[in-house]
Amino acid sequence: MSRVHNFSAGPAALPLEVLETIRNDIPDWLGSGMSVMEVSHRGKDFVELAARAEKNLRELMAVPDDYSVLFTQGGATMQMAMAPLNLSAPGDNADYVITGSWGKKAAGEARKFCNVNVAADASDKNFTYIPDESSWTRSDNAAYLHITPNETIAGVEFNFVPAGDVPIVADMSSNILSRPIDVSDYGVIYAGAQKNIGPAGITLVIVRNDLLDRVRPDNAHLMTWKSYAESDSMTNTPPTFAWYVADLVFQWLKDQGGVEAIAEVNARKAGKLYEAIDTSDFYSNPVAVDCRSRMNVPFILADDSLDAKFLEESAAAGLANLKGHRSVGGMRASIYNAVSEDAVDTLLAFMAEFERVNG
Ligand SMILES: *Cc1c(COP(=O)(O)O)cnc(C)c1O
Repeated sequence: MSRVHNFSAGPAALPLEVLETIRNDIPDWLGSGMSVMEVSHRGKDFVELAARAEKNLRELMAVPDDYSVLFTQGGATMQMAMAPLNLSAPGDNADYVITGSWGKKAAGEARKFCNVNVAADASDKNFTYIPDESSWTRSDNAAYLHITPNETIAGVEFNFVPAGDVPIVADMSSNILSRPIDVSDYGVIYAGAQKNIGPAGITLVIVRNDLLDRVRPDNAHLMTWKSYAESDSMTNTPPTFAWYVADLVFQWLKDQGGVEAIAEVNARKAGKLYEAIDTSDFYSNPVAVDCRSRMNVPFILADDSLDAKFLEESAAAGLANLKGHRSVGGMRASIYNAVSEDAVDTLLAFMAEFERVNG
């Protein structure tokens, strides 16, 4: 078997221990003689799995009792529609802070359902900073404030929680479970699974219970958070395999010491990568230092004619998926929870050698 160091932005690396458990489990899950994909989601084994996943997630994130933990399909993108459909009435104002491509997409989706006020927009500097909160133009009566705490493409991460009593809706797809947060700062947290939770196909939503009743009466049943809250997320057949893997990832994260412990590893990983970039004239990162992402580290080469060579040689050295997003160019190392410190050290050694030979 040969595994590479995988820096994919998503779907992203999963812990090897989890993959090995899956491989062992597949033909005969829990002695049932069937795989987890072949059993009823309403059977005892699966119901237990679902309850354990929720319990562990609640423990990992210290989710308060007055919040529901939901698992849906549709990815983070579907939540971009579900947020306005569950929190606003037609014509209500909703404030959006756009610090990257995903926030822009969320605002575009919400415009179909409510009155979007763009409170701040960092596109003037190519999404390389977070506009100071004092410059935001928020509406007086917003139903909610939408932010993207980590923008995966440009590599920009909030280091603060916006002020005020308006429920904050946060798309945490690319930094959920990467460091401790206070869930009670938020009204709604949503995250597609394929970065820090598991495989694509399942989506985590954490919602404060008092917000569930704001739903539009004509909303489609499957687009209604309350229906998931009232059915243990079994509104219809859930993505059972993805849920099973998410459960394994939550257990793995607990084994690592939980979110506090992994946050320290994540800080070290990102810290040494940015330091190497900043102390070199060969590599650079354009993001303001106070809001650099600990999960997605884009960097460009001073001479972009070397990009293809960098990608080819890094791939040959077992460092996969370093190509930057087309809107940013250059490289991007996504260093989610399952990407080990050893992977980052190997990347750093490669970068230093590539600079020595080509710089
Ligand atoms: C990956 C990503 C998305 C898209 O998620 P889907 O599950 O493909 O809908 C949305 N927002 C952020 C911040 C992301 O990183």
